[in-house]
Amino acid sequence: MTSPTAVVSGGTRGIGLALSLRLTALGYRVIAPYRSDKEAARQAEAAGEGRIEALCLDVADATSVREGCRRILDEYGAPEVLVNNAGRNRDRPFAELTDEDWDEVLATNLSGPFRMCRALAPAMVAAGRGTIVNIGSTTAIRPRRDGANYCASKAGLLHLTKCLALELAPTVRVNALIPGFTDTPEVTERYGLDVPEKREAIVRSIPRNRIGTTADIADALEFLVASGSSYITGQQLIVDGGHFMG
Ligand code: NDP
Repeated sequence: MTSPTAVVSGGTRGIGLALSLRLTALGYRVIAPYRSDKEAARQAEAAGEGRIEALCLDVADATSVREGCRRILDEYGAPEVLVNNAGRNRDRPFAELTDEDWDEVLATNLSGPFRMCRALAPAMVAAGRGTIVNIGSTTAIRPRRDGANYCASKAGLLHLTKCLALELAPTVRVNALIPGFTDTPEVTERYGLDVPEKREAIVRSIPRNRIGTTADIADALEFLVASGSSYITGQQLIVDGGHFMG
């Protein structure tokens, strides 16, 4: 029996790596598109013990998505799961945002999922099954400072999720998984979580009294790809210890 295939963009680091590893534990073969960090890609493949294939594919680049997804379809056929996890921040006060800051974040966080879905979803529909999970952010709903590009991109992604849930129904389910503060190197650096006072201030603001782990997000993904969530589509699942409660 061949393993089902899952595609996890940005599946080589941080949250994405935890999602890739969880899917391998569930029996999937995982294709993990990444942008440039070859060492992280190598480590992800090693951690996956032959069940993760890192694929250099820039989701912000239309040609790269087209060619990479063609390769995925040719080699593995229609994936059963697509997780649009690759994301970027280029934070700056609004008036200082450059065109490049805006374009790169929108291209990665919003156009990327659009292009990945456009390239892969028709094959999923034709195969008669599939689940798409888009990794959102609570700042798509309630804004934060210095990230107008990021917040706008993630807000667009939440709405794209609903549009796709409508258009790909009844065959393919599409949901958004929204992490709160999740302990990844990128977040530790950006929020200075290595400084105990800064970490404690954030922990105090979270009802569950801790920062999320990548395993918390993987648990939610496991639910969203399982048959136990088969009646759920077009929804937003927030996993943040009660921090947001929108
Ligand atoms: P990381 O920065 O740790 O990892 C990002 C991953 O995405 C890397 O594998 C990176 O590849 C890949 N990536 C970035 N740009 C591209 C691109 N253009 N094409 C292909 N791959 C790309 O991020 P996190 O794990 O912290 O976050 C993962 C997702 O979760 C993001 O969408 C983020 O917005 C969202 N999120 C995270 C939160 C958190 O607290 N961590 C909170 C809310 C949302 P490479 O290594 O090659 O650059």
